[in-house]
This record gives sequence, structure tokens and C-alpha cells, in this order.
Amino acid sequence: MAIVTLPEPEKQITLGISSCLLGHKVRYNGGHKRSSFCVNTLDNFFHFEPVCPEMAIGLGTPREPIRLVGELAATSQISGQSSSSAPDKQLEVRVVGTEDASLDVTDALTQYGHQMSSQLAHIGGYILMQKSPSCGMERVKVYHENGHPLGESAPGAYARAFMEKNPLLPVEEEGRLHDPILCENFFTRVYAYDCWQKTVLAAPSYAALADFHATHKYMIMAHYPQGYELLGQVVAKGSKVSLEALLGEYLLSFMSALKRRANRKSHTNAMMHILGYVKKSVDGKERNQLLKLIEEYRQEMVPLIAPMSMLRCFIESHGNEYIQRQTYLNPHPDQLGLRNRI
Ligand code: SF4
Repeated sequence: MAIVTLPEPEKQITLGISSCLLGHKVRYNGGHKRSSFCVNTLDNFFHFEPVCPEMAIGLGTPREPIRLVGELAATSQISGQSSSSAPDKQLEVRVVGTEDASLDVTDALTQYGHQMSSQLAHIGGYILMQKSPSCGMERVKVYHENGHPLGESAPGAYARAFMEKNPLLPVEEEGRLHDPILCENFFTRVYAYDCWQKTVLAAPSYAALADFHATHKYMIMAHYPQGYELLGQVVAKGSKVSLEALLGEYLLSFMSALKRRANRKSHTNAMMHILGYVKKSVDGKERNQLLKLIEEYRQEMVPLIAPMSMLRCFIESHGNEYIQRQTYLNPHPDQLGLRNRI
């Protein structure tokens, strides 16, 4: 019997990435933070656009380390509200040298974040280095001026500025990609965002939006069961609103829906719905085998790829065009192995 070889993965998407994760020696101590997952695995699937904001603003290497320094200011006092209501606290953060506090690079990192948000308009996602006062996506430690921890956290200054300008771009920290569910979620968003760019944005129309919505039905349902109906209400506005406004509203809600984590219950629900399209065409014995696999998946005995592979075979052989085009069946290349681990 001939062995079928899987096609080589195609590099169709460019990801922004913190340079140190690729092994570039750009850290304050002259070292790097090489990520074997990025270098050995993701490099086969994506082009990388490495960025080191600290090097880019001229800090050089080796260099004095920097950190987030901040204080909590009462917003009701700032805005002059009555002192009878409990004041909200607003965290004000600067990025300064750990030895020389007069080295303040907050504005330089912020401006560079804004600059790169336009320069990297072509990327389909961004992988950032965690805990960095420049690149950290969230939860970077904030210190008092005296060097003691403030007990608060914030994003790195560059990452914050970049994400403010690109709120819909899929962004994740390398450390979080070690969690199989977060990792699968990130790459589902990366490929879905890329699909949006290449279909709807490439030739914007109300029909393109309706088609995108229809082909993503079960992907949306797996992440947010009520999401398909809610997004459908956006699509239904049709020409009552301008196309530009409609696409903007849809993409915002779509990316927010995908950010929700799909779980075994919601995947089971989506697979059962899809099976409904072919259950009359599939032999009872085979159908029962798939139902058993879906139940084993639901009970955490097998990974998602097990029932999904069989379901895809059924859909390929017996499904109509509508169900065969569902992106949920193939949200990212199988060779990435993302559904083998969830
Ligand atoms: S975390 Fe960001 S700023 Fe720090 S070395 Fe890596 S790429 Fe450069």
C-alpha cells in the first residue's frame, strides 16, 4: 500500500516576534531567550519579523536593565469628584533604569510602539517575551521608586503602545504558548484573522462578509455558543450601515468571540451539530464509532484530533458544500499538532 505524504506546510503568514526569542543576543546582559518552540517548530510555518524595541531606541547591549516604576493615583481626586465616594486608583507607570532613575525611556518605547504598529501592518499576529518592561503583554511587575514591588502589574510600554493601535491583532506571550489550550486558541485566531484579510478585506462587500460568517459558523460556536447568532445580527444590518462600519463592528465581535476559550463541552456540541449533516449517509456502525470517540473526547480520554479526524472523513465523503467549507474542520495546519494536545 502506498504511503500518503502530507504536504509541506506553507509559510503564508508573518508574525511579529520579540527578537530575543529567536536567539538574537539583544538582552540587557548580552544574552537571549531562545524559544525552541518558535525556532524549531513555528519557523516551519511562519515568517518572522523580529523586533527588539530596547535596541531600536538605542539602548545597545549590554545595557543597564530597565523596569516599570509606578504609583497609584486616586482618580476621583484628579477629576475633582466628591471625597465621599471611595476613590478609584489609577496606575501611572514609567519605564526607568534600575540604577539610574533619570534614564526614562517611556516616551521612546511608546513612540516606537506606535511607529511599528504602522510599519508592521502586514503581520498576522505577534509573539512577545513575557515579563519584559518593554515587550510584556500583561502582568509585568511594577516597582516603587525605592525598588520595592508595588504589588501591581502592567503591560510593557512598547507592547502597550503597539496593542493600543492594533487592538484586533492576535497577540500572545511565548510563555503562555506552553499551555496547549492557549496555544491552540492563539493560532486559531491567527489563521482566522489571516482568512479575514485574504477574503473579506481583499475584496470588501456585504456578500463577502455574509460568506465569511457562514463558513465560520462552527468555529464561532465552539468558542462562544451564542456568538454565531449575535454576530448574525451584525451581518443582518447589511446596507443599513456603511460597509466600512459594518466590517469594523463584525471583526471586533468576531475576534472577541474567538478569544474565548473553547472547551470539551463546546467542541462536543459543535461536532455533534456537524455530524447531524451526514448522519443519514453514514453507516450506523461507523457513526457509532464516531459517537464513541466524541464521548471519549468529552470525558478527557482522547484528544480533539481523534474524533475530529473521523468527522472530517465523513464530511469529506458525504457532506454538502456548505459543511465542507466550515473552517472549524481545518482551522490550522494539522502538522502543527495543536489539536493533538487539547
Ligand atoms: S524582551 Fe523585548 S526588549 Fe527585551 S531583549 Fe527581548 S526583544 Fe529586546
